[in-house]
Amino acid sequence: MGAEAVDLLVIGGGMAGLSAAAQVAAEGGTVALVEKAERTGGSARFAGFVWTAPTVEELRRVNPDGDPELAEALIDGFADGVAWIRSLGVECRPPVPVLGFGRGHQVDTHHYLDTCERLIRDRDQEVLTATWTRALLTENGVVKGAECLLPDGSTRRIEAAWTLLATGGFQGDPAMRAEHIHPQAAGIGLRANPESRGDGLALGRAVGAAFDGTDAGFYGHLMPAGVSLADPARFVDLALYYSEHALLFDITGERFVDETMGDHLTAMALLERPGARGLLVADARVHREWISASYVEGIPGVDKFRLCHRAGARSAVAESLDDFASMPEEWGYPGAVIRDRVKEFNATTGGGAPVPGRLLDGRPLDEPPFYVLEAAPAITFAFGGLPIDAGARVLSADPAGHRTIPGLLAAGADTGGLYRRAYAGGLAPALVFGLAAAWTALGGTPASAGH
Ligand SMILES: Cc1cc2nc3c(=O)[nH]c(=O)nc-3n(C[C@H](O)[C@H](O)[C@H](O)COP(=O)(O)OP(=O)(O)OC[C@H]3O[C@@H](n4cnc5c(N)ncnc54)[C@H](O)[C@@H]3O)c2cc1C
Repeated sequence: MGAEAVDLLVIGGGMAGLSAAAQVAAEGGTVALVEKAERTGGSARFAGFVWTAPTVEELRRVNPDGDPELAEALIDGFADGVAWIRSLGVECRPPVPVLGFGRGHQVDTHHYLDTCERLIRDRDQEVLTATWTRALLTENGVVKGAECLLPDGSTRRIEAAWTLLATGGFQGDPAMRAEHIHPQAAGIGLRANPESRGDGLALGRAVGAAFDGTDAGFYGHLMPAGVSLADPARFVDLALYYSEHALLFDITGERFVDETMGDHLTAMALLERPGARGLLVADARVHREWISASYVEGIPGVDKFRLCHRAGARSAVAESLDDFASMPEEWGYPGAVIRDRVKEFNATTGGGAPVPGRLLDGRPLDEPPFYVLEAAPAITFAFGGLPIDAGARVLSADPAGHRTIPGLLAAGADTGGLYRRAYAGGLAPALVFGLAAAWTALGGTPASAGH
């Protein structure tokens, strides 16, 4: 290895990559970070809550098929991750409930990401933006850095003892979505930064990394069908979190999921229905209590129905359920069938059991007017990716050889195995495994390093 080799080369400057690089720099290590976009931050700039399940048991309950070693590492590392953010002078507000079972802190992610970047530069370590990674460097099966393409078109070899893949996942690539999530995923909306197109996965697999998580699902939300998501300011405003209290029908007029379990889970289920679109039906009570109300404490509510309507979504306000029979034909939904299904559902709330069930909100939807909106799933990141251990070391695809690929780390949405058709936070794993990667590169745990 040449004299200029750094302790850690980080590929991708979002939540995971900046956390890792800043931690190494703060400890006096040497680091280089390369970011493909003009500016660092990735999807983390759109996020606001660092949260996860409060205990391993709770995480295992909501995510029983995820990797138990990673679940434990996430929960064990969460408090230290929050303490690290605070140690930089970035505010983590007092904990609030998230998605019913979770807990987390509102954080100004811009402040956090920019503080990490400044810390790295202040320690005379490099942050290279608009820089692309061509290939990883290897020597006898050991990853030793990467060959990068600089904005001026020149190539630079950056040698490193450890290399961290933190490019934010593959959700920006329609073909990879179709291959690893579902054939219909090729056509869904992207609710994330546009740069994360599977580069980390490709770099890792080219040196023998495994892949974990075909059919593991994805984190996303229902969004109004057909409305452009090109403006990231719309990612949160247009997300139809209120679906947890509405009824969702596919294009055949069937309900197919317990909507009350969570909009992010409903988004996954809708992807697998014909056409991957559905009609969301709410009544005046749901409009009052959920559509225009706040989703998480601290975030003011907006009338999402009105916003979606103004954005051009297929939507209507029906004065009575009987109006459903005259639903425009071009919408492609059997209006009379949906009318009957809503009436049947309301009848079961008096004592019977609706199918599918309604575990967390069994109240009827019988207060006119009815708010009808066409919804489709949009993806933030996939749960499949490079499998890692608790120290963020990438696992090898060759079971006969080493368990991990020497010199190679991954963190954040590039990784797979933690979640399987369940979700408990995206920032928290990026933070926790980003910091774990830093400690692996520094040669020990915070405790063994004497901190
Ligand atoms: C609207 C929205 C709201 C969200 N809200 C929350 C929330 O409140 N709480 C929560 O826990 N999670 C939230 N998330 C999810 C969270 O933002 C992600 O899970 C998290 O940012 C993942 O971190 P990461 O480092 O893996 O990826 P990112 O933060 O996306 O960073 C990846 C970086 O890698 C760069 N990159 C891509 N390819 C390359 C390459 N070849 N070379 C170099 N760099 C590359 C990208 O440009 C990007 O800067 C939200 C996401 C969105 C979109």
